[in-house]
Amino acid sequence: EKYRGSVSTTGPRACYDEGKRCAETLFFDYLRQHNLRIRVARIFNTYGPRMVPDDGRVVSNFIVQALKGSPITIYGDGMQTRSFCYVDDLIEGMTRLMKADDKITGPINLGNPVEFTIRQLAETVIKLTKTKSRLIEKPLPEDDPTQRCPDIKSARKALKWQPEIELEEGLIRTINYFKSI
Ligand code: UDP
Repeated sequence: EKYRGSVSTTGPRACYDEGKRCAETLFFDYLRQHNLRIRVARIFNTYGPRMVPDDGRVVSNFIVQALKGSPITIYGDGMQTRSFCYVDDLIEGMTRLMKADDKITGPINLGNPVEFTIRQLAETVIKLTKTKSRLIEKPLPEDDPTQRCPDIKSARKALKWQPEIELEEGLIRTINYFKSI
């Protein structure tokens, strides 16, 4: 939360990064100028039931591909990491942040600090769905981060929060959702 960032302002993902940075700046201006009650949560990769099947995110892509028996598309070598937070855990964190004392404005990281490679995620989805799908490699998108893992010390301390649902459990629930739609 203290790091001020060193990000591309012109790359294909820049509008996403810069949009979030700008939003945080405006929030703090509203706090200073209008005393608005604000909370800034920094949300890391989140997944769970009701994801849109074709929005392109990795958990939904892999589950949909596995259930159809289509190839599972790993971008790059699959050694990049992400930390996946189950949606119910995230909502609990956000609710605690909103109920917390107004002094707790954030930015505060909310996410699951347990890190997996994308290849491990693919293998776990294959195991849980018992699919016959095979892995294929596709080009890594430009500016794809090689690692992402939240430090949730502040959330643990200020909100007494940490994720409770492990990846396999969350994936089982999400797979059941995708089977049901
Ligand atoms: N990814 C992948 N196959 C897919 C979709 C995504 O290997 O079908 C990779 C993607 O390149 C990234 C990671 O999975 O390294 C997470 O991608 P996502 O779009 O879900 O989230 P973000 O990149 O915002 O962390």
